[in-house]
Amino acid sequence: MKSGRVNLKKNLPVLLPLVLVAIITTGTSAQSQTPTQSPVDVNPRAIQVPSSQPKLDVSYGYSKLELRYIRKDAANPNGCAVRDHEETEEADVAPGSGHVTVAGVRYDLVQFHFHTPSEHRFAGQAFPLEMHLVHRSAEGKLLVIGVPLAVGPKSVVDDVLATLSPECGDPVDEPAIDLNRLIPSTHYTLHYNGSLTTAPFTEGVSWYLTTPLTVTQATLARFKAEFPAGNAREVQPLNGRKLTGVPII
Ligand SMILES: [Zn+2]
Repeated sequence: MKSGRVNLKKNLPVLLPLVLVAIITTGTSAQSQTPTQSPVDVNPRAIQVPSSQPKLDVSYGYSKLELRYIRKDAANPNGCAVRDHEETEEADVAPGSGHVTVAGVRYDLVQFHFHTPSEHRFAGQAFPLEMHLVHRSAEGKLLVIGVPLAVGPKSVVDDVLATLSPECGDPVDEPAIDLNRLIPSTHYTLHYNGSLTTAPFTEGVSWYLTTPLTVTQATLARFKAEFPAGNAREVQPLNGRKLTGVPII
């Protein structure tokens, strides 16, 4: 029968317009030919530990919290019952209560929120929950610390998620917590450049992934009951990106 080469030659005139369309579409896209989207699967082979790297300097204090439901389907008449996968429970912190500094740039903690299952995966494995601590610089650049959450002993996260805010109800006011307890007491994070994981998926977000904290099964069940279909974006290709080991201080 015919070899692959003969078939390719025969089919090339048919395929060529499709190939050109693909190139043109990619070339005119708002994103580059190698999108740098989040979340990603942390492939151990993509991890590098350079000899020197700007440290993630965490400076957190105490803050009262306001837990509120982030609604993405306000135009839907049944939206109060429909769980859009981009919706979440978000804890807003008091302005000035916490910030991080990297290479002299300060990023203020604005809010933190949760996804089930975890958005980032680790060697293909998801955690049941993931917390995102969202920081913004004066110039509007975003830095997010992602904390995977495993089921285990009670932590400060159990306090934060003790009473969930209803989708179409009032936010929940919570007493002050020590924000430092939201960060695991390990010395390294994994850093990469990615994007928002909800629309508009803006790139240029600086990600730092930590080792896991724990939550109780009861807290996980409470959160999953609110988002039975989950509220996590699927992992995106690394496209050659590396994850860098960064000390946390
Ligand atoms: Zn998030």
